[in-house]
Amino acid sequence: MATKLQRPDYAYMGGKIVPWDQAVLHIGCEAITRGLNVFEGIKGYWDIHGNFGIVFLEKHYKRLVRSARLLHIPCPWTYEQYQDAVFQIIGQLLSKERDMWARTTLYVVEGHWGEGTKADLILTAYHQDKVIPEPIDLGVSTWQRASDSALPARIKTSSNYQMGRLARMEGKSRNYSDMILLNGHGRVAEATGSCVLMVRDGVIYTPPASEGALESITLDFIEAMAKTLKIPFVRRPIDHTEVLIADELAICGTLAELVLINSIDGLPLNPNGPILTTLRERFFRIVRGEETDPAFETSIIPKKYMKKL
Ligand code: PMP
Repeated sequence: MATKLQRPDYAYMGGKIVPWDQAVLHIGCEAITRGLNVFEGIKGYWDIHGNFGIVFLEKHYKRLVRSARLLHIPCPWTYEQYQDAVFQIIGQLLSKERDMWARTTLYVVEGHWGEGTKADLILTAYHQDKVIPEPIDLGVSTWQRASDSALPARIKTSSNYQMGRLARMEGKSRNYSDMILLNGHGRVAEATGSCVLMVRDGVIYTPPASEGALESITLDFIEAMAKTLKIPFVRRPIDHTEVLIADELAICGTLAELVLINSIDGLPLNPNGPILTTLRERFFRIVRGEETDPAFETSIIPKKYMKKL
C-alpha cells in the first residue's frame, strides 16, 4: 500500500520539468522553516483501452485551492495550468508497465509570517505496481487527530502528517500496517493517510469530516458507488469500540485505494465480507475502464505529453 521512496529522473518546479537533483528549496524559506505547504496526492491508472487517466483531477485541484485558502497561501494557478503541469511530469516519467502516483505541492518559497507569501507548484511522480492491495492488520493509535481549532484535518498540509507518522511508527512496533487515529472525543477520525469504512448490519458507516477526517475524494466516490448498488451509506460519528465489533472494515484513499482489514487491534475481522468486497471489486474494475459509474471522473493524458512511449 505504501509508496517506496523512489528517485525519479525528473521533477516539476518553477513552471518546468527539471532534473531531480535540481529540484531544491532554500533552507530560509517558510516551506522549510515552518513546513508551510499544501498538497494533493493524485493517482493515474492505465485502462484496458490503453489510455492513462488521472482520477478526479479537478476535485484534487479544488481541494488544493481550499487548503491554500485556509493557510492564506496564494494559488495563482488555474485548473488548466495545474492539469498541464500534472500531464507534463507524468507524461515525462510514464512507462507502459506501471501506474503512477504524484504529489502536487504548493511550497511557500517567499514571505514571512503571512507577509508577501508566494508559493511554487512543485510536482514529483512515482511509479506504482498494477496490483490490488491485500487485506491488512490495523491498529488504533494512542496518538490523536488535532481538533478543527488546532490543526484542521480539512487542510491537506504536511504538518498534519506528523501524528500520522508517529502513529505508523507505533503501529510498526505492534506489527500493524496502518493505524486509526481517534479524535479528542475518543471517536474514530481516520487512518494515517486514508478514511475509515465500517459495515454493521448491512449499512456502511464513515465518520463525517467534522470528526477529524480529510474531506476525502475517494470516500465520495465510494459513497456514489454504494448508491448505484443500493447499499445504505451513512456518515455519522463512530465510537472506538464500534470498529472493534464491526462486521467489515476497510480504509480508502487515493493512494490506499480500497484496502480490506483482516484484524483490528489484534481482534480478527472477516476480510471477505460481502459489502466491502463487492465495492472493492467494482472500484478496481472502474479505474481500469472495465465498468463505468456515473460518478467516476478521469482525465486522459494526451499522447503528446508521453515522452518515452
Ligand atoms: N485522510 C488522510 C489523512 C489522507 O492523507 C488521505 C489521502 N489524501 C485521505 C484521508 C483520503 O483522501 P482522498 O480520498 O481524497 O485521497
